[in-house]
Amino acid sequence: MPRILIVDDSPDNIALASMILEKDNYEIMSAASGQQALEMARKTRPDVILLDIQMPQMDGFQVCQRLKSDPDTDGIPVLFVSAVHKDAESVAHGLSMGGDDYITKPFNSTELRARVNVLARLKRHVDELLEKNFELEAANQALAHSIERLTQAQKVLEQLAITDPLTGLYNRRYFEERMQETFSLIGRHKVSIHLLMFDLDHFKAVNDRWGHSVGDAVLVHFSEIMRRCVRRHDIIARIGGEEFVAAMLNIPVDQAKRAAERIRREIESLPYKVGPEDILVTTSVGLAMLPAAGHSDQTPTLTGLLKMADEALYRAKSQGRNQLVIA
Ligand code: GH3
Ligand code: MG
Ligand code: MG
Repeated sequence: MPRILIVDDSPDNIALASMILEKDNYEIMSAASGQQALEMARKTRPDVILLDIQMPQMDGFQVCQRLKSDPDTDGIPVLFVSAVHKDAESVAHGLSMGGDDYITKPFNSTELRARVNVLARLKRHVDELLEKNFELEAANQALAHSIERLTQAQKVLEQLAITDPLTGLYNRRYFEERMQETFSLIGRHKVSIHLLMFDLDHFKAVNDRWGHSVGDAVLVHFSEIMRRCVRRHDIIARIGGEEFVAAMLNIPVDQAKRAAERIRREIESLPYKVGPEDILVTTSVGLAMLPAAGHSDQTPTLTGLLKMADEALYRAKSQGRNQLVIA
């Protein structure tokens, strides 16, 4: 039931207006002064305020101004009711103070009811809009939250797609993608690439002797050594079961050799520990580079570079393993 606050310093006027408006199923409240009106408006949040203009202490214009400048009450429609200020100037002044309508006394009861009805309807619509707005804001927030979570999930997925799950190094697919990007630069810029290819020696024997999960841990152990021995922007990846690569751009060949030797020596001398037992493995390394000496007129390809590194690695294996061979 909409609630109407009638503000008037004359009890007779309040009684009259109440009597008329009660026919329309309103809950009627009243205030006898401007000050009381402000307090009640804030406390009870009526749907329409009927506001007498001529009152002692604070007149209706002032009350209206205060109501409209308080965010708690500024949405309540105000209907000015005046016996004295009937001229157009006063009406305009009242409306400019934030009043929503203006009626003069003595009023016609049908007209009063109609005008109050309009304001109550308006207020209901505004309330509904506010409610919808509130719901929308809540939905918006939920949406923003979902998008945030999706973005996070997407980042995790993107990371997973390029990562080898066992070692956390890049996987073969990402390594090849990155290398293709690099190859597209070679023609235009002076880029040199050194590719180290590692294959652990007799790794099958590690699995056979210790089991597959210890074998896995040894692979992780090796990946950690690799991480330690390369620079931050070198690209390292696990491209097969016990096969790893490191690509290094724009460095002298000696530096690439030193990195390869460092990794080879570390894995050779740093055992992976299972309880009191030490597991020692070794690795063979093939090193290939671009631009390759003597092949300068050939268009460099990733396949070609991998093949060179693989052939060098094969030679390292056949020459007795645990060594570096340069293509
Ligand atoms: P070589 O010195 O000639 O490289 O000998 P190898 O035993 O390392 O070579 P081979 O290619 O015959 O065997 C590689 C073995 O690596 C076979 C497989 O058992 C093991 N391996 C491959 N991928 C994984 C893996 O993800 N986890 C474990 N634990 N072992 C793997
Ligand atoms: Mg192998
Ligand atoms: Mg092997």
